[in-house]
Amino acid sequence: MAGIIVKPRARIFHGHEWVYAADILKTFGNPEPGGIVSLKDFKDRPMGTGIYNPRSQIVARRFSRHKEELDEDFFVRRLRRAWSRREKMRGLDPKLCRVVWSESDGLPGVVIDRYGPHFVLQTLTMAMDLRKQLIVDAIVEVFSAESVVERNDNSIRLAEDMEMVTGVLHGAVPGPFRVSTDYGSFLIDVTGGQKTGIYLDQLDNYRDAATRAEGKRVLDCFCNQGGFAIAAAKAGAAQVTAVDVSESAIEQARANAEEQGVADRITFVVANVFDYLKDQETAGTQFDMIILDPPSFTRNKKSVPDALRGYKEIHLRALKMLPAGGILSSYCCSHHVSTGEFRAIIAEAAVDAKKTLCLLAFHQQRQDHPILTGVPETEYLRGYTYELLAAF
Ligand code: SAH
Repeated sequence: MAGIIVKPRARIFHGHEWVYAADILKTFGNPEPGGIVSLKDFKDRPMGTGIYNPRSQIVARRFSRHKEELDEDFFVRRLRRAWSRREKMRGLDPKLCRVVWSESDGLPGVVIDRYGPHFVLQTLTMAMDLRKQLIVDAIVEVFSAESVVERNDNSIRLAEDMEMVTGVLHGAVPGPFRVSTDYGSFLIDVTGGQKTGIYLDQLDNYRDAATRAEGKRVLDCFCNQGGFAIAAAKAGAAQVTAVDVSESAIEQARANAEEQGVADRITFVVANVFDYLKDQETAGTQFDMIILDPPSFTRNKKSVPDALRGYKEIHLRALKMLPAGGILSSYCCSHHVSTGEFRAIIAEAAVDAKKTLCLLAFHQQRQDHPILTGVPETEYLRGYTYELLAAF
């Protein structure tokens, strides 16, 4: 097998699974882009097997500490292992979850979401993309999947020199269908929906919002299919407003609310949240609970300062509309914005708004998106709930 000799002090010696171009002492045996490589340390000791793509900044990603082939048997074993972890996760419906989360499940670049008998696959690394059919065969074998759809329209693929594509890989295209959870029912449109159906990573956080919403005037900003808004309305919120810039998202949110019998208590607004908050602040509107769950404002390190300015603006405006005792729940799904930076921005917004915030709770991506301590990139969603205190 072709391979790579890794320089001393590379990240892979410190718990990470990636080898950057700068970490390579030399390659041997002429590895193929999208092929597999044997990884060795500078004393020629074996360190396992990785996937290889010299066109990516991350030239190799280790997927095994052993000598391993990427054949169907390998994928079946990895899927079974990921599945048995999901089955043991407390409170998780394993039929509606992220079944594979990349490095966290020993499959770098592979993301698989399950909606009952339907599966949505992303192959974000070249080696995994080349073995897409093996992965589909393994999904069918392990889960008796009715359909597997690829949603490879993620721009991360461009970094691996791959195109963005979507399509059906197994079975027939399932038309839009509904899935039910404790906190609402959602429309899944695996080929047409935004992202890959619904935001599975947030499902538990709807429950948290619901526990705080009773009797409150709630504002759900960046509501998408209305997960927070509907959970709040079902939990007895006095009034709920849900805002999203996407007309189709609002349409789905409204249909979901109707299905749950709470549409009459939710006002749906198609608007840019930045404009909406500004207008409502000027109008003197007040809410008792505001949820901010924006998309990632940055896809790279370079634009972090712009992203932080955006985060600051929405927090500042939201804080001005909360009375004492009001609740602010704020989420950040941008990996490039650190937890420290995000919390510092909220603290700064509170200073500028002359408000005192007290931290009530931490939130994170649901447990079916497991986080590896050695691979910080596996963690991306953080959230905080604050109470706005009356001035002392
Ligand atoms: N809270 C949602 C997920 C939000 S995803 C849930 O739990 O399901 C981010 C959403 O923000 C998307 O639906 C997108 O359409 C919307 N969005 C992006 N930019 C926006 C803007 N400037 N104003 C309003 N909505 C925006």
